Amino acid sequence: MEDQRKYWFVFISGCVLLKKEGESYSVPLQEEAPAPIQAWTYVQELPELNGHECRAFSVSSPPEAMRNGELESVGLRASYNCLPREFYDMAGKGAELLYWDSNTKFCGVCGAPMKPSTVISKKCTHCGKEIWPQVSPAIIVRIRRNDTPENPENEKILLVHARNFRSDYYGLVAGFVETGETLEQCVEREVWEETHLKVKNVRYFGSQPWPYPCGIMIGFTADYESGEVKIQQEELSKSGWFGRKDMPAIPGKMSIARKLIDDWLGHACVDEQQK
Ligand SMILES: [Zn+2]
Repeated sequence: MEDQRKYWFVFISGCVLLKKEGESYSVPLQEEAPAPIQAWTYVQELPELNGHECRAFSVSSPPEAMRNGELESVGLRASYNCLPREFYDMAGKGAELLYWDSNTKFCGVCGAPMKPSTVISKKCTHCGKEIWPQVSPAIIVRIRRNDTPENPENEKILLVHARNFRSDYYGLVAGFVETGETLEQCVEREVWEETHLKVKNVRYFGSQPWPYPCGIMIGFTADYESGEVKIQQEELSKSGWFGRKDMPAIPGKMSIARKLIDDWLGHACVDEQQK
């Protein structure tokens, strides 16, 4: 008998439903969906994982399996800490596609209903307009400064606290890419707008899908060129230049912000392989 089990990524108000056995969590792997699929439920097909098909869908009320304790709802961000990396990534992809589906029920051109065309595209039932999921790119940048280059240990990086951070830690300057600008121009503009600094040597570092709800973070490094920090009050509440020995609270391991900071601190990054 062929193994017909699928991985089911079921979402309920921003959380993913996971199977809890002892202290470990996993994505339900079974033939039938672990929650009822209604006639109107949109079920998203996802790429295979470990030889099993994957599906994602949302429910609006807790299914039986959640009420009886078989499944537990875990925030998508928090699931980073309890799922292997490829499952966390797939949950993010599923969440993004479900978000896209729920926000594109009708055609932006003529207003008629949209119908799935391929696994990741839709077509208007009236005018034929075709759409694909949209990703919103944002940059994030680590800025180095050393006023005494002969003493490398005096090097510092700029950390900021954004008003929308969930707790009292410091992160990096970040912002959405605007239409018509390069990523490097975006880095320079965001740094200028948020801190009134000029930077140079803008270099690509790495990127990370950011499914909250549909972004991608593109990490850069840069060097301080000129100016004194004057923070944009609407977005940031505080900032500072921090040395390796006086780091404040910094973002969690899941974020590229943390990878950029760890890279500078010289820590070995806790990376994909390890999770
Ligand atoms: Zn249309």
